[in-house]
Amino acid sequence: MASSRQRGAAPATAADIPSLDRVLNAASFQPLLRAYGRSQVTGALRAHLEGLRAQALDGALALEAIGCDVLAQALEGQMAAAARPRLRPVYNLTGTVLHTNLGRALLPDAAVQAVAQALTSPANLEFDLQTGGRGDRDDLVEGLLCELTGAEAATVVNNNAAAVLLMLNTLGNRREVVVSRGELVEIGGAFRIPDIMQRAGARLVEVGTTNRTHAADYENAVGPRTAMLMKVHCSNYAVTGFSKSVEIADVAAIARRHGLPATVDLGSGTLLDLTRWGLPREATVRDTLQGGADVVTFSGDKLLGGPQAGLLVGRADLIRQIKRNPLKRALRVGKLTLAALEPVLALYRAPEFLADRLTTLRLLTRAQGAIRSQALRLQPVLQRALGTAWQVKDAPLFSQIGSGALPVDLLPSHGLAMRYAGKGRPGRHLAGLEALLRGLPRPVIGRIADDTLLLDLRCLEEGDEPAFAAQLAEPLA
Ligand SMILES: *Cc1c(COP(=O)(O)O)cnc(C)c1O
Repeated sequence: MASSRQRGAAPATAADIPSLDRVLNAASFQPLLRAYGRSQVTGALRAHLEGLRAQALDGALALEAIGCDVLAQALEGQMAAAARPRLRPVYNLTGTVLHTNLGRALLPDAAVQAVAQALTSPANLEFDLQTGGRGDRDDLVEGLLCELTGAEAATVVNNNAAAVLLMLNTLGNRREVVVSRGELVEIGGAFRIPDIMQRAGARLVEVGTTNRTHAADYENAVGPRTAMLMKVHCSNYAVTGFSKSVEIADVAAIARRHGLPATVDLGSGTLLDLTRWGLPREATVRDTLQGGADVVTFSGDKLLGGPQAGLLVGRADLIRQIKRNPLKRALRVGKLTLAALEPVLALYRAPEFLADRLTTLRLLTRAQGAIRSQALRLQPVLQRALGTAWQVKDAPLFSQIGSGALPVDLLPSHGLAMRYAGKGRPGRHLAGLEALLRGLPRPVIGRIADDTLLLDLRCLEEGDEPAFAAQLAEPLA
C-alpha cells in the first residue's frame, strides 16, 4: 500500500479520510461496483480505509493517498487479485508428460468443444432419443469402448481407483481375492492395493514372493472362499533381475478351471500398440482381454489421453453385476466426463491421425529435432531475461511418460539448462529461480537436477511459444 512520508507531501489526519459512503458514491468507484458488486467492494474498502486510518495515526499517510481515484485504483488491484481463479494454466516443463500434479492428459479440441456444448445446453445424458424413455449414461460410450477393446460390455466411473474399488466390492465382498506379492503396488501415495481391497470388503490372499510368482502359487491359493484371481499392473516400478510373474493367459486358465473370474487392473490401459509410434511396448486392453481377463480396469487420463475416468470392460454378466452395485451410483461420472470421453475414444477409430489429433500422443511422439530447434530459439530469450548471474544452455534431456506408465522407458528430448554463474553454493539461488519462474503470470514449472534447473520443452507446443517468450521479455531477476 502506498504509505509515504515523502518530502513535500502533506500528511493526512484520520479526519481527512473520506467516509465509506462518500467513496462508494464517487464516480471512480462505479465501475468497481458494477464489476464486483456492492458487498464485496464495501468489505474490501472498509478494510482498506481501516489500514489508512492506522497509517494516519502514525503520521505516515499522505493526503494524495486518500483521493477517490487513488482509492479506486488500489481496490481494483486488490479485487482483481482476489478474483483470480485458483486453478490456473501453467507450463509443464517438468519432462513428465502425464504429470498427475499438473492434471495429467491434455484434451484435444474435439473434447473441449463437446464439453462446452454439454455445459451450456441440455443433453441426452440419461434420455433415450429413440424411445423417449429413460436412458443409461454408460450407453454414450459403451459401444465405442467395446469396439476398441473387443469387450462384451463396459461401464465408466470417476477414476481407476474407483473402478478397482467397485470391481472388488462387487465380485469379492466377504470373499478372497488372490494377488501376487510382486503386484501389491502403491500408486501415488493414497492408492494401495491392500488398502483398497480392505475398503472393498475383500480379503487379500497374497501369493508368491516380491520378485517371483509361479502359476502353482495361484493354483494352491484357490479355496472355497476364493472370489477371483487378480493381476495388477506394476505401473510405477519395475522388478528386474531374478524375477518372474505369471502371464494373464495362465492366470485366466487357472481361474477358468475353478469357475472364477480373472481380473486385471491395467493402470494406464493403452488401446493401441504404441510401438507403431516408436514408443515402448505396453499390453493393450484388447491384448489383456484376449489373454483371458474377464474384467479389465484402466484410467481415462493416462495414456488413453482423455478426461479423468475409470473404465471397466469385460464379460457382459460381470459388468452387469458391477453396474447394479449401489456404489456405482456414488462413483458415477458426470456429463462433462462423458462429453469429453466420447470424442477422445472416437479418435482411436482412425489410428493414422492419432499422433496428430490426440494431444497426449502428439506430445509423446514429438521429434527431438523439433524440440531442440525450439530450445535454440528460446535460449537467448531466457539468457537475456536472467542476466549474467545465470548461464543458460540448451541441453539434451530425457522425458518420461508419467502417471506410472512405463516407468523405465525414457523419451529423448531437449530443453534449457540453467546454472548459477555466481560464487557460492547454488542451492539457494536455484530455489529462488525456481520460485521466480513459478511466480510468472503463467507459472513455468521445471525440475532441478545436479545443481541445474531444467526446462524440458517437449510439452511446450510450438503454438505456445510466443506467449511463453513474451512473459520472459522483461528481465526476471
Ligand atoms: C494409476 C493407477 C491406478 C489409479 O488410477 P486413477 O485413475 O489415478 O484413479 C490404479 N492402479 C494402477 C495399476 C494404476 O497405474
